[in-house]
Amino acid sequence: MTENNQNGLFGEFGGSYVPENLQTVLDGLAEAFETHKDDPDFKEEFRYYLREYVGRENPLTFAQNLTKKIGGAKIYLKREDLNHTGAHKINNAIGQILLAKRMGATRVIAETGAGQHGVATATACAMFDIPCTIYMGKHDTERQALNVFRMELLGAKVVPVEAGQGRLKDAVDAALGDLIENYQTTFYLLGSAVGPHPFPTMVKHFQSIISEESKKQIIEKEGKLPTAVVACIGGGSNAIGSFAHYIDEENVRLIGVEPKEAASITEGVPAVIHGFKCLTLLNEDGEPAPTHSIAAGLDYPGIGPEHSHFKTTGRAEYVTITGEEALKAFRELSRVEGIIPALESSHAIAYTLRLAKELAEDDVIIVNLSGRGDKDVDQVYKMERE
Ligand SMILES: *Cc1c(COP(=O)(O)O)cnc(C)c1O
Repeated sequence: MTENNQNGLFGEFGGSYVPENLQTVLDGLAEAFETHKDDPDFKEEFRYYLREYVGRENPLTFAQNLTKKIGGAKIYLKREDLNHTGAHKINNAIGQILLAKRMGATRVIAETGAGQHGVATATACAMFDIPCTIYMGKHDTERQALNVFRMELLGAKVVPVEAGQGRLKDAVDAALGDLIENYQTTFYLLGSAVGPHPFPTMVKHFQSIISEESKKQIIEKEGKLPTAVVACIGGGSNAIGSFAHYIDEENVRLIGVEPKEAASITEGVPAVIHGFKCLTLLNEDGEPAPTHSIAAGLDYPGIGPEHSHFKTTGRAEYVTITGEEALKAFRELSRVEGIIPALESSHAIAYTLRLAKELAEDDVIIVNLSGRGDKDVDQVYKMERE
């Protein structure tokens, strides 16, 4: 039903809108991905590192205290927070670095905003002993000095990008410039289910492990499929990975939760940004609008093409949660279950609490706990003292 075609089109969304020299590089990448993704050795190697290095499979934890307190549907937490490095991003970083090795790349580059994808990439590069350069807006390097140090500890070279406003968009442009110049040796490891083909398809493939596991786990625990699967949305990678194995199960509701302050799907219009077409927040000049979520990982004006398509077809529902509601959920899960969630994941938790109340006791919700909140404790501490 939702299989994308060769050009990475999802309905009218996705595709590839890039200069010719970059298109040649992307065509090579798409071909390599198609060649290797189903190769038994490649699959086995991916599984090996997910198991031995990332620590999969991670649990599907029944949130018994929360379920009791809220009333209504049973709430299960898919524990991406228990992965090595503390979030789902490492699944994709391992998958892409194995592909980079197969393609003979001797150097990996990546962009990063707040630093989370940069840290996941630097981790994978340390593990596989591949030189790593991370482009990060100058402004972001100043705000996230600790993450810069983390990446450097892991052996990465962090390049502060002074161009433009010194933010994520400028880091992406710098990384693409590097790729065009050095494509023969260099692999660009993109961090979410966005960008030109084949990135959205490739990132979904590596993140689908989340729903592959959760589907098996929920059938073991409940003997049936969930009523709903809920996940937060930045670029859309943890959500598409959480949805993937349920897309053809028409009775399973798929719900993506955006921050009210960066609601690309709910409030955006179709446009081309960063080389692909998606629902996007634009300012009056038709440029991607600046966004201001309390969760750095959700602060992106665009959204993956498949989510844009699901919004149009109605296969998935998309809702918004404010920063304030997310903070409440951050405290609630910490207090009631002893699990401190990432501020990104707290958006999904907040909506789950609302939904559980509306559903019946024999309903089941799986919410993807995309990451742990240790990285956010300092920020919340400061916000609450302002
Ligand atoms: C980066 C990040 C997100 C958002 O990215 P997606 O591509 O939408 O998944 C969500 N949660 C955490 C913990 C993150 O680090």
